[in-house]
Amino acid sequence: MATAAVEEKSGKVVLRNIGLLLSGDIDQPILDADTIVIHDGLITAVGREKDCDISEAKTTIDVRQTCVAPGLIDSHVHPVFGDWTPRQNQIGWIDSTMHGGVTTMISAGEVHLPGRPKDIVGLKALAITAQRAFDNFRPGGVKVIAGAPIIEKGMTEHDFQELAAAGVMLLGEVGLGSVKAGYEAKEMVAWARKYGIQSTIHTGGPSIPGSGLIDKDVVLEADADVIGHINGGHTSLPEAHVCELCEKSSRAIEIVHNGNERVAIAAAKAALELKCPHRVILGTDGPAGSGVQPLGMLRMVALLSSLANIPAELVFCFATGNTARIRNLNCGLIEVGRAADFVFMDRAQHTAGKTLLESVQLGDIPGIGMVMIDGLVRCTRSRNTPPATEVPVVLH
Ligand SMILES: [Zn+2]
Repeated sequence: MATAAVEEKSGKVVLRNIGLLLSGDIDQPILDADTIVIHDGLITAVGREKDCDISEAKTTIDVRQTCVAPGLIDSHVHPVFGDWTPRQNQIGWIDSTMHGGVTTMISAGEVHLPGRPKDIVGLKALAITAQRAFDNFRPGGVKVIAGAPIIEKGMTEHDFQELAAAGVMLLGEVGLGSVKAGYEAKEMVAWARKYGIQSTIHTGGPSIPGSGLIDKDVVLEADADVIGHINGGHTSLPEAHVCELCEKSSRAIEIVHNGNERVAIAAAKAALELKCPHRVILGTDGPAGSGVQPLGMLRMVALLSSLANIPAELVFCFATGNTARIRNLNCGLIEVGRAADFVFMDRAQHTAGKTLLESVQLGDIPGIGMVMIDGLVRCTRSRNTPPATEVPVVLH
């Protein structure tokens, strides 16, 4: 299912009989509410059914006591164009990822484009084109925030001003281009920030032939907004250096699926020990050499909850509200005024966990029963997750 950005409006939608409502807010991850009211894609009420106006809805969904959470935000993807990735020559990967509960993806650079231009005019043109193309075309309804240029030597402050004026809001991973020295990266990251462009730095060893090592000193000197794949993409810095980054930098700690899993756990634990869980955000770094992982975000949630011993409701915040706040997105939190982007989950059939949260803490992936973006149902029972025990029902 491919959907253009100009879409039908959801009208009034009511979600009732919610069993567990995960907020995305790390300071209050579970809400005491069983009903959400939506109007034209935005949340207008969250509360107890008796306190909400549920009359005259265009669509009413009985959630059947299952869990509603904000749609997952993948903080680190490498899209190219449409729903195709040249990395593994696959089509339909974004739609497939929507079946894994992801409703928003953030580009860390359209680096896999065959023949990607590396001259300054060319890289700017690509970024602007990618931003426009994904703004106009949403595979599976997924919001892909793209247009993330890979910075190269020779760029000037004016280039960043021009990119920002053209609607580019992100830098691709700093370090994937010719700018690899800390002092060079620092200057360009600061120019980007001055014009409202958010930056991410590649952390760790080279990802593919042609890329290079970015060590902790470069990460600290560059001071990008997001410490991209702090657990390596794939090759990690030594665990002690990763913990040092968590401690010495105040920037976002991004942990990815296509990284070192042992260091992923160490980084998450370090963030908790440093009392800054709000800095942790999750991504996949897919498509990658390890493939396309439609369940990559859910696998990260299960990994960190089970092996880093972090309550599942907190880890879901790493994948939703934390990212929304750090990246200034109008989704990722269950709050009036936010986008009605949700994933509906229940414990997978025959998991050892007695509840959804317990099943995740035991390392199992939840079953998805429905995904909604902008108040519109994008899929019912996921074709990718293990089957949810109970699924929501559209009453009308
Ligand atoms: Zn990278």
